[in-house]
Amino acid sequence: MSASIDAAPRRDAGLARQHLIDPEICIRCNTCEATCPIGAVTHDERNYVVRFDVCNACNACISPCPTGAIDHWRQVLQTKPYTLEEQLAWDKLPVQAELDVGAGAELPLEVAAATAQATAGQGGTVSAPASAEVPRTNLYSLKNPVIAKVTGNFRLTAEDATSDIRHIVLDFSAAAMPVLEGQTIGIVTPGVDEHGRPHYVRLYSVASPRDGERPGYNNLSLTVKRVTEDHAGQPVRGVCSNYLCDLRNGEEVRVVGPYGASFLMPNHLGASLLMVCTGTGSAPMRAMTERRRRLKSGNEGGQLMLFFGARSPGELPYFGPLTQLPRDFTDHNLAFSRVPGQPRHYVQDLIRARAPDVARLLRDEESYVYICGLKGMEAGVDAAFGEVCAAHGLSWSELLPRLRESGRYHVETY
Ligand code: FAD
Repeated sequence: MSASIDAAPRRDAGLARQHLIDPEICIRCNTCEATCPIGAVTHDERNYVVRFDVCNACNACISPCPTGAIDHWRQVLQTKPYTLEEQLAWDKLPVQAELDVGAGAELPLEVAAATAQATAGQGGTVSAPASAEVPRTNLYSLKNPVIAKVTGNFRLTAEDATSDIRHIVLDFSAAAMPVLEGQTIGIVTPGVDEHGRPHYVRLYSVASPRDGERPGYNNLSLTVKRVTEDHAGQPVRGVCSNYLCDLRNGEEVRVVGPYGASFLMPNHLGASLLMVCTGTGSAPMRAMTERRRRLKSGNEGGQLMLFFGARSPGELPYFGPLTQLPRDFTDHNLAFSRVPGQPRHYVQDLIRARAPDVARLLRDEESYVYICGLKGMEAGVDAAFGEVCAAHGLSWSELLPRLRESGRYHVETY
C-alpha cells in the first residue's frame, strides 16, 4: 500500500524549480510545444517559453528536443518565478540568482550534533576545496519539509549477504532540491518514539551527482544500510534505516536539508580525489565518481583513486558497476575482510600496499582526500597515512594540518 503525506504541498518551502528554454540554442521547431501533454509550452514570434504554473516537470519534452535548448532549470522563489513576459523578451537565459529563503536559519540540534560527531576525525571545521561549487544548505526545515516520492528501491548487497544495503531513488517533482556531491539530506521518519516525541532527523549522504540520479531529472539517490543490530552486535531495529529500506515506489518521504558545506568535491577537473570508504561510506564517493564520469570525455584531468572496504564482494555496494569502470578512470582498490580461505584485508592494508602512489597524491597540491564510513576505520587509515608518509620523506603530523587548512582533507564517519 502506498503511503501519502498530505500535510505539506510540494512547493511550500518557498523554493521551486522553474523549467526554462534557452533562447540562444532553441531553433523554434515547435517540438516541445507539440510534445507537452499539458500545454505548458507556448511561444510568440521571438521565443518558446514554459508556463511556470502549468509545467509539472514530467520531462516528456526533454528527449524529443533536437538541440537540448529545452533542458534548462533555475531555482526560484515560489512567489517570484520568471514571468512569461520576461521569458518572451530574453535573448539569453539569466544566471542562477542567489535566493534568500531564510536558508542557513536554524540548523536542527540533532543535525548539528550528528555532523559534529561525524566530522570529529578531521579535527574540527575544515573549509571546502577552493573551487567547490557553493552549496545550498538548510533549505527545508522540520516545519516545512519537502516531500519526495520514492521511484526506486533496490538491494545492492547479494541476497545471501548479511547486510541489506539499498539504493533508494527519491524524486522531488517540481520542488527545488539543489544538492552537491558530498552533501547529506535529513529524513523525517513518520510517527513518534517510545516517549511520544517525533523521531529525530537521521542524515544520509547523497549518492548521486548534482544533476540527478538520472541526468536532467530532479531526483537523487541514497545508499542506506538496514540497521538490524547496534554497534555492540545486539539485535535492534533501526528506526529510520528500516523505514527507508521498506519503502515502496510511489510512497512519499519527508525530507529536510540539504546539509554540509565542507565535504565537497573540487570543481576543477585537474584535481585528483583520494577516496577511502567502507560500506555506505561509498555514497558520497559514488556521487563524486559519477560526477567526474559524466564530465570527462577522455583521460584528461586529475586521478580518481579509491580504497573501498567490505566483508566480501557480496557485501560491497556497487561492486558490479565499480569493477566495470575502466582502470584509467578509477584506480579502485577493494579490500575484503571476510572471504573464506583468504587473508583479511582492510582499506589501510591496501593504502600501505599502494604507498608510492598514495604518497604522490598526498604531496600533490591538486589532490583532495575524502574518508567516509564506519567510525572504526579512522584510526587505521590515519596510521596507514602516517606510515606511507614516513616511508616517502613526508611528515604526516606536519602535512595533515596543511591538508585541513587548504580544504584537502575531509572525514565523515558515523
Ligand atoms: P537508530 O534507531 O537511530 O539506532 C538503533 C541502534 O543502532 C542504536 O543503538 C544505534 O547506536 C545503532 N546504530 C546506529 N547506526 C548504526 C550503524 N550504521 N551500524 C550499526 N549500528 C548502528 N547511514 C546510511 O545507511 N547511509 C548513509 O549514507 C549515511 N550517511 C550518514 C552521514 C552522516 C553525516 C551521518 C552523521 C550519518 C549517516 N548515516 C548513514 C547514518 C544514519 O544517519 C543513521 O544513523 C543510521 O541509518 C541508523 O539510523 P536508524 O534510525 O536506523 O537507527
